[in-house]
Amino acid sequence: MPRPILATIHVDSMKQNLALAKAKSPGARAWGVLKANGYGHGLERAMRGFADADGLALIEFDNAIKLRELGWKKPILLLEGFFGPADLHTMAGYDLQAAVHCNEQLEWLEAAAPQLAERRIRFDLHLKMNTGMNRLGFTPDAFAAAHARLSAIACVGSITLMTHFANADDIDHPLLPIGEQIRRFEQGAAGLPGLRSLSNSAGVLLHQDLKSDWVRPGIMLYGGSPGGGTADAFGLQPTMTLTSEIIGVQDIAAGEAVGYGSRFQAEGPMRVGVVACGYADGYPRVAPAGTPVLVDGVRTRLVGRVSMDMLTVDLTDLPQARLGSKVTLWGQGLPIDEVAISAGTIGYELMCALATRVPVVEG
Ligand SMILES: *Cc1c(COP(=O)(O)O)cnc(C)c1O
Repeated sequence: MPRPILATIHVDSMKQNLALAKAKSPGARAWGVLKANGYGHGLERAMRGFADADGLALIEFDNAIKLRELGWKKPILLLEGFFGPADLHTMAGYDLQAAVHCNEQLEWLEAAAPQLAERRIRFDLHLKMNTGMNRLGFTPDAFAAAHARLSAIACVGSITLMTHFANADDIDHPLLPIGEQIRRFEQGAAGLPGLRSLSNSAGVLLHQDLKSDWVRPGIMLYGGSPGGGTADAFGLQPTMTLTSEIIGVQDIAAGEAVGYGSRFQAEGPMRVGVVACGYADGYPRVAPAGTPVLVDGVRTRLVGRVSMDMLTVDLTDLPQARLGSKVTLWGQGLPIDEVAISAGTIGYELMCALATRVPVVEG
């Protein structure tokens, strides 16, 4: 019998979450963002889940190629752009679009242009503006010049104007509210032709007034919240359920401790369940005692330190629980956001960290 841990991926829920993203972005086209192996769900599964998307967006060249090999015919966008001149040939070979965010990329394009134009290659590119995130992109002041330079390159087809929000989940951010990023974008893009690509999940969910020709939802398609509460509040459905079983039970006396470091001490007599799931499966080691866990569908709490292959839960009020009882770590019945918040992280990180040793099924 295999170790009882299992991740169940709900492809139908991905479809429904995408439909919700589209419904919240009337008139806009939607990229289904599936970087990091579809946020840990598996590239091919995410491709099927987002079959209705207008395009797929990711970071990794190898996975972009895989999407073509799997038969994806619609656009593919490399959100982090290309990393060297040789990538342009891969983009040409597999019909990949990419973000352009720095002068070096313009130079590579200019150098390759004569050869690529001769082969009738035309790249659809996404010129990225840095509107305050200070990660990738041209400043608003440098944007028009970058646009002019890009437009003049023979192997360039369409140019979409793109930026990324730092705080779309926090409207009143004291330092950089979304309104300020939009103002900078409008200023830098004023008078320039091209479609606009703005919103991530937070933009789609919280700023429906925003005019974006393309939206780029990621986390919401996986039933995760982009920040703050839990995604079910938006009508999103979980797409990854991580389950395991109780593989051991200990009855301990008051004052006895549980796990490494003996960090958790029982206040009274206690029944402790041992679950076959640890940080080597992707469960966050930093999750503190009190983090919610479901046993046989009933909510209880993590106790003691998470170890590599096991974690421990409080079964004191669950007398019916025993060896083989089903445990849900997150997913259907327990929003991943709740576990993430308790562990001081975000649902994104938990999904992406699902370990390869965890068997995956669809359901
Ligand atoms: C990852 C990513 C997204 C999706 O963000 P979510 O918060 O997951 O919706 C959108 N745009 C860019 C450029 C990204 O890198």
